[in-house]
Amino acid sequence: MPWFHGKISGPEAVGKLQPAEDGLFLVRESIRHPGDYVLCVSTSGEVMHYRVIYKDNKLTIDHIQYFYNLIDMIEYRLCLSPPAGWLLDISKLTLGENIGEGEFGAVYQGEYLGQRVAVKTIKCDVTAQAFMQETAVMTKLQHKNLVRLLGVILHKGLHIVTELMSKGNLVNFLRTRGRSVVNSVQLLRFALDVCEGMEYLESKKLVHRDLAARNILVSDDYLAKVSDFGLTKLDSKVSDSIKLPVKWTAPEALKKEKFSTKSDVWSYGVLLWEIFSYGRLPYPKMSLKEVKEKVDGGYRMEAPDDCPPGVYALMTSCWEQEPRRRPTFHKVREKLEREMGKHSPGPGSELRDRIGSGSGS
Ligand code: ADP
Repeated sequence: MPWFHGKISGPEAVGKLQPAEDGLFLVRESIRHPGDYVLCVSTSGEVMHYRVIYKDNKLTIDHIQYFYNLIDMIEYRLCLSPPAGWLLDISKLTLGENIGEGEFGAVYQGEYLGQRVAVKTIKCDVTAQAFMQETAVMTKLQHKNLVRLLGVILHKGLHIVTELMSKGNLVNFLRTRGRSVVNSVQLLRFALDVCEGMEYLESKKLVHRDLAARNILVSDDYLAKVSDFGLTKLDSKVSDSIKLPVKWTAPEALKKEKFSTKSDVWSYGVLLWEIFSYGRLPYPKMSLKEVKEKVDGGYRMEAPDDCPPGVYALMTSCWEQEPRRRPTFHKVREKLEREMGKHSPGPGSELRDRIGSGSGS
């Protein structure tokens, strides 16, 4: 278990829990009382040390709450961390079929108090602990183009409950339908949806770091929403640069880990390319090494087939080498809206409906 640190002293434990964030914890073996354990938890900038008492095959730190193993006790501690009101009741959840595999675990569809939801399982480890710290941020974010967090469940690990996006991720959506079903106005709508979600994150000074079509989900009524905005930030904190999505990441972020709204704008340009190529993998047939070298040398992807020139111009502006020269999401939205005006649909064609009748799902 990553939170188990063996025989270290109290001050050493405090050192390991820096910077102090609420809910951060570790377990160490007591030096003064060999055989005993100490749970160290950071709360309100201070680290509390609780001696774990082992009695009658059970563990306790307060003689009130007893646990059969350390993991249960840790879960109980973690469960004190989510902001008030965001801890959901597992007895009100009905789990349905598996609908996806994430980096941290499986995704299931389900129902919570009559609402259709998606449940993402995160095994209880460092990630879950780190996620708890991000929950506070996520709970404050609400926008029609961000996948809505409904709460968390603690039961043999952490489960994140969000609204169900029944049409799955945007890459699969576009790949399985293609040009015959989705036209360019609909593509522009998706682009605009994502842009509005990002403009909202931009206004909150939040950086996504992993903006890509695979992280955009499509709702029942064909709205595109940005997902994974809480996780991705901690993802790159926990991991190292080896795991960066090279084809989507801006050069300054790849080389100097300089992530900003402007590096998100670069990724957005790649996402636009994915949208207008109906879900193709960017930089087709190029290795990651080649992409890094060529992009550094000024190479940029060509326009996808039949891509409106205005949209391609927008993509290339997102790929300015100099971050400051890239547009803001606010500016991108204005440009897309102007583009939308040029592609106004004919009378009687409500495009979100048209996709619905054309596809089986
Ligand atoms: P990770 O970011 O850990 O790789 P994702 O969140 O992308 O995992 O989830 C993996 C897949 O599960 C997605 O590509 C999507 O198909 C499905 N999925 C995730 N969240 C939802 C949701 N809220 N509604 C519907 N499907 C979802």
